[in-house]
Amino acid sequence: MRIGGEWREAASGEWIASENPFTGEEWARIPRGGETDAVSAVDAAYEAGQGEWKSLTATQRGRLLFNLARLIREKGQRLADLEVTDVGRRRKEALGVVEHLAGYYEYYAGLADKIEGSVTPFDKPGFLHYTVYEPMGVVVCIVPWNGPLLLATTKIAPALAAGCTVVVKPSEFASASIIHLAELAEEAGFPPGVLNVVTGYGAEIGGTLTSHPLVRKVAFTGGHVGGRAVAQSAAQGFKHVTLELGGKSPNIVFEDADQEAAVEGVSMAIFNTSGQACLAGSRLLVQRSVADTFVKKLVDHMSGAKLGDPTELDTDIGPLATRPQFENVLTHLQVAKEQGATAVLGGGRGRPLGGENGLFVEPTILTDVTNDMPIAREEIFGPVLVAIPFDTDEEAVQIANDSDFGLAAGLWTSSLRRALEIPRRLQAGTVWVNTYRTVSVMAPFGGFKDSGIGRENGKEAIKDYLEAKSIVIRPSTANA
Ligand code: NAD
Repeated sequence: MRIGGEWREAASGEWIASENPFTGEEWARIPRGGETDAVSAVDAAYEAGQGEWKSLTATQRGRLLFNLARLIREKGQRLADLEVTDVGRRRKEALGVVEHLAGYYEYYAGLADKIEGSVTPFDKPGFLHYTVYEPMGVVVCIVPWNGPLLLATTKIAPALAAGCTVVVKPSEFASASIIHLAELAEEAGFPPGVLNVVTGYGAEIGGTLTSHPLVRKVAFTGGHVGGRAVAQSAAQGFKHVTLELGGKSPNIVFEDADQEAAVEGVSMAIFNTSGQACLAGSRLLVQRSVADTFVKKLVDHMSGAKLGDPTELDTDIGPLATRPQFENVLTHLQVAKEQGATAVLGGGRGRPLGGENGLFVEPTILTDVTNDMPIAREEIFGPVLVAIPFDTDEEAVQIANDSDFGLAAGLWTSSLRRALEIPRRLQAGTVWVNTYRTVSVMAPFGGFKDSGIGRENGKEAIKDYLEAKSIVIRPSTANA
């Protein structure tokens, strides 16, 4: 762990074994942090916030973020390799993520000294009123295993730009790359303790972090069970919270869509990252007039997909990141088949050459699914697409919105009317038209309904790490 600029083992001396999902073998050990370590990380962040960090100008903070972005570009190969080994992310994707990360730090580096308050009119004669924005203080960032570096960065970058100090709690399944990121931050010049990493199980140290009195904000990405626990705990201390939770996003294909582009887009939307993405387009809603031909094209497109070693650049589908997740996906598939779903592609465990013991699930497309079946309602978080036909625009919108989640949605159409009308009717934080997964640091991202509270990315996100303060000055007390 990295706490206050020092390497630390867990106070208990215990470790968590980390499995390489391609080989199925242990490749690293992560300190199993406990309450003492969590408290120590928050204390270190608090102390750092009172020292040199506090005296830096916003422009100086921005320069440190620019330094970090440069180091990520120079040394990103190592960050990428760590994610490939730790969570089975394909190298091609991991290298893209690293490039994206640098862009995040650059974006918020540029914003650091553009946090502006304002002087506003005031309804009392002669008074001066202005607002300033101040860093909240210690921020705890809790991150899942599916995209550790990126999902930590969406929090760390605006938090540091705002002048906060940070404790990151990575997933117990995916800590290695974030520990290395903290090391790079110190190399970039951030004072020790500004960015700390404490590792361990959420159930064991999460509560200590989210209830610690010195913590002012918790930024969480993960599932809705963890999210609810975090929100409840943070509420006890009236801490600010943002929650980025799961999804079951519809991808709607109309009969007037460019079918080839839609085949590409729909398969990429679910099968990239082996379906382990909150924004995965896991429900295909396809207009009945083209449903059979579209699904057949999709099956043909994916039939040749190469499962295998995530380090190889021609691999299309890597392993799932964790063993519990792998078992969970296979159980969901079995139940769906028992309930009448038909696997027109895949449907079971994959055993590619060299990865026979790895955590592979075949890319799977299920038909004979209705939107009330668990496979269509629950977030499976694997390479599993359900196909559901619809007849009218009305019905497409109704099925799309008939979900507890509301993270993202896609639609494929050549109709300008549909491209303009349908997004406004969908309950989702992001709607893509004739594209999917096109995310940007500049575009707010987050969910409706059970998909979360608040938005990350974009200029506004920095305000989630700032407290607004109103200052009211009476110019003279002479007549008081
Ligand atoms: P998870 O909720 O099990 O764990 C996420 C993190 O929370 C981990 O670090 C875990 O240790 C910690 N945690 C768990 N219980 C906690 C508690 N009681 N208190 C404090 N911390 C606790 O999620 P996961 O399985 O690691 O990740 C997959 C989930 O993340 C999926 O639901 C996925 O959709 C979601 N996700 C959402 C987004 C988004 O931006 N909306 C992005 C990626 C992943």
